[in-house]
Amino acid sequence: MSSLFEKKIETLYGVGAKRAELFRRLGIDTVGELLRFYPRTYEDYTNPVDIDSVTPGEYCCVRATLESPVTTQRISKGRLISHGRIFDDTGFMTVTFFNNRYIGEMLKSGREYTFYGKVSSSHGGFEMLSPMFSDTQTGNKIRPIYHATAGLTTGNIENAVKQAMRLLPDEIKEPIPQFILEKYDIESLDFAIRKIHFPDSAEELKKARKRLVFEELLTLSLGLRRLKSSKRQETPVDIKTDCTDEFFSLLPFEPTNAQLRASRECIADMINSKAPMNRLLQGDVGSGKTAVAAAVCYTVIKNGWQAAFMAPTEILAQQHYSSLTKILEGTDIKSELLIGSITAANKRKIRERLKNGEIDLLIGTNAIISDGVEFKALGLAVTDEQHRFGVRQRAKLSSKGDKPHTLVMSATPIPRTLGLIIYGDLDISLLDELPPGRQKISTFLVGSKKREGMYGFIKDYLDRGLQAYIVCPTVEENELNIASATEYYEKISAEQFKNYSVGLLHGKMKAKEKDAVMRDFLNGKIQLLVSTTVIEVGVDVSNAVIMAVENAERFGFSQLHQLRGRVGRGSEKSYCFLVSDAQGDDTLQRLRTMCRTNNGFEIADMDLKLRGPGDFFGSRQHGLPEMHIADLADMDSLSTAQQAADEIEKEFPGLQGEQCRGLRAEIKRLFSKVGAEGMN
Ligand code: ADP
Ligand code: MG
Repeated sequence: MSSLFEKKIETLYGVGAKRAELFRRLGIDTVGELLRFYPRTYEDYTNPVDIDSVTPGEYCCVRATLESPVTTQRISKGRLISHGRIFDDTGFMTVTFFNNRYIGEMLKSGREYTFYGKVSSSHGGFEMLSPMFSDTQTGNKIRPIYHATAGLTTGNIENAVKQAMRLLPDEIKEPIPQFILEKYDIESLDFAIRKIHFPDSAEELKKARKRLVFEELLTLSLGLRRLKSSKRQETPVDIKTDCTDEFFSLLPFEPTNAQLRASRECIADMINSKAPMNRLLQGDVGSGKTAVAAAVCYTVIKNGWQAAFMAPTEILAQQHYSSLTKILEGTDIKSELLIGSITAANKRKIRERLKNGEIDLLIGTNAIISDGVEFKALGLAVTDEQHRFGVRQRAKLSSKGDKPHTLVMSATPIPRTLGLIIYGDLDISLLDELPPGRQKISTFLVGSKKREGMYGFIKDYLDRGLQAYIVCPTVEENELNIASATEYYEKISAEQFKNYSVGLLHGKMKAKEKDAVMRDFLNGKIQLLVSTTVIEVGVDVSNAVIMAVENAERFGFSQLHQLRGRVGRGSEKSYCFLVSDAQGDDTLQRLRTMCRTNNGFEIADMDLKLRGPGDFFGSRQHGLPEMHIADLADMDSLSTAQQAADEIEKEFPGLQGEQCRGLRAEIKRLFSKVGAEGMN
């Protein structure tokens, strides 16, 4: 099949330049990619139910005969509505179509069809609106439905896939070693590719999916290991002395045991191993990751090297810069801030001093990985909130030095099983303890009817000199009933909070404006900050003790947890209000879980159970390759893939040799989009 990845999509009949462009929009450039473009869902005609047992409100499939020819009427503005009556042994039902001039010819009275569509009740009977249908005798049993795009329907894609199938060799070459397929009862690639598009039964579809999920996770896992071992070259960055204690003595607080342990782990790693450190520091929001990273930077600098500290937003970079310079005051360490919004002249000066080795610690945004920024001797590259960056950006930061040590930090709690795969290329240090004195953030789910009461609560705290956030899901009013930060701000600053100082922060503001607002919030000039999720990441204002989230149902679990992590950062008791009128069971369960627990790992586990790992894979949150199907994975498939990867590595160290050629190609393809090096 690999050669099909070289065959352009245009070679298919009926795919001209224009249509090829549409395919490209879906990320499909070659015939191979088309075959790897799996259906989004299926219409299942294999399990028809009797008409008397359909459930209104649900999608159902019935096998029924058209009683008499379909009748069509003209309604307003030349629109057409057509009705037909169908029956089976148990009853009658209406099928309704809109604006389909040909429906009368397509459906023949007296003939049996399989209809698939959403059922509603009407006039005491049942009705299907615009159902899909196929002839019971001749039609497909399960039809694939693809992600379509304007100008390219799922039917177009289906036809192209059918053609592509004909180009397949008699038997698609199998990349996964046979002993693995047998051991884990996995179908062949040949079976999977054919059946994922055109399964004959739900059972076949299940097997095809199982294979593809397994393959994707296995490829990911093997690829990440390769990445890890390719980083195992010797580094010139020699670290001899651990200066953790010296650093912690500069801090205004005692480090937690977890912070001490994590710092020592990192430094021992750098001292003992010839290879560069490649480590993830994982700790829940507020666990004090910054101080650990700073201790590691301090040690590296004291050993004669430079350190770089990259954060995802200017706000965060500035925050790190100001707190670290305060701590390092009185030492001989020189630090600088490099972000997009400083003047060109300043940037030039910083670049020069950096190159000459006059700057020890460079803190900044991705401005520090831009071309032209050169270090004299970069020994350590730190990336904060690493899930905000891609593999490529992290690699670029490291490439600013000669195999520097790297430390990435993340608060996004990842369930362990998933973490093993996602962070397969990293060693992990865990901060599993919060600084002392932190109290549980009391979290409440409130309906919009209680909003005024919540405002009263917030005012009490503002009156006491404390601060609060209100987070809204969008910037502008574009959907019904969704709170928009801008309008929300205008309303409450003119009405409920007119006697208070209210600020507005959202991602569409200029960096300078954002900074000004954030600074005013930091120094207390702004009491109440209305914001979008731009404050989600890392912001640390310990005087803020209330976080209210409007339309809380619109946010993911982990995102809510991150948002909530903006409060409860000092010793003052903090509160979080989740404002929502949502009714759905899943949503309510999610929001109630948030109220019950503050434990990020528990929340992540719930998220995984409720929604599958799609959120972790799909959102590209980790700079991982985009997964096509792994969001259908469950815990079992995750650990099976992990185990199989171990066994393959053992049998074929380094994936050498002819047998692993297919796997190597798969890995290369999966990782090519994230630009990971060392994947050949
Ligand atoms: P995160 O892990 O979310 O990045 P931060 O590093 O921003 O957390 O730390 C959260 C807050 O806790 C900061 O205000 C920091 O100064 C404070 N902090 C960190 N470590 C300790 C400690 N050992 N004792 C008291 N406060 C601490
Ligand atoms: Mg942080």
